[in-house]
Amino acid sequence: MKSDHPLIKSVFKKCTNCEHIWDTRNSFLADPGIKIIGYQADFRELTEGLFLFNHTCGTTVSIKAQFFIDLNDRPIFQDRLTDGEECLGYCHIRNNLLPCHSKCECAYVREVLQVVKSWPKAKV
Ligand SMILES: [Zn+2]
Repeated sequence: MKSDHPLIKSVFKKCTNCEHIWDTRNSFLADPGIKIIGYQADFRELTEGLFLFNHTCGTTVSIKAQFFIDLNDRPIFQDRLTDGEECLGYCHIRNNLLPCHSKCECAYVREVLQVVKSWPKAKV
């Protein structure tokens, strides 16, 4: 079977509750029914952390940070400052979506959160 068959649609994400399908990342982020509510950091592998979204159907949709990191346009710092003097502890608090201005390796993921948070929503 040919893989470019028109009936085989690409899927960016499917809601585990209502089974709504978003074909692309843009259609997901632009969906007015999608709202970012949290970030669950994975300190071993930052790209394995989870971005948490509310869907209007009432469920939480989680997507790995790796699917968004190309949205980063900030420098990525080498050092991990988590829990050091400069660390504000934001990455430990799941519903904290504020940017972090420490020169910490984890900070760029929080910059990506800002891009996701301010993504223009499609008109309904
Ligand atoms: Zn849903």
